[in-house]
Amino acid sequence: MIKDDCIFCKIGKGEIPSATIYENSDFRVFLDVAPANRGHALIIPKDHADNIFQLDGETAGKLFSLATVVARAIKEETGCEGMNIVQNNGAVAGQTVNHFHLHLIPRNEGDGVNVTWKPGETENNAQQELAKAIRKHV
Ligand code: AMP
Ligand code: ZN
Repeated sequence: MIKDDCIFCKIGKGEIPSATIYENSDFRVFLDVAPANRGHALIIPKDHADNIFQLDGETAGKLFSLATVVARAIKEETGCEGMNIVQNNGAVAGQTVNHFHLHLIPRNEGDGVNVTWKPGETENNAQQELAKAIRKHV
């Protein structure tokens, strides 16, 4: 499905130009227009899904398989030391484009890129209970 008013659907189809690294019938990989670091890329399925809550598992599997290839390609070209894979779902989680996309963000010592959070505290029993409760929905 393609969503008419969706910018990433248009990029997927090639209607809006992008700095494309790779494309096939299912996916397009292109450089982020406002990169966190040099080589910051996005992988999108060409079929519209708002976010991970809508993405089908088969597409997700293929997409992450492609991510392994793209990650190595970016690493080879940029010489990055590491990489963050980031994927935001929902405005509350920082999603600004409502078409599923996976960020590949090359990382280097001292680059100042920030994708971290403050570690929380847990209590073992509560964690076990929560895991059990979530398991019912899997
Ligand atoms: P998110 O905040 O996870 O929804 O990320 C959306 C990303 O899409 C941001 O990093 C934007 O810089 C990027 N972006 C938005 N429009 C374009 C575009 N036309 N071409 C490339 N990247 C884009
Ligand atoms: Zn879309």
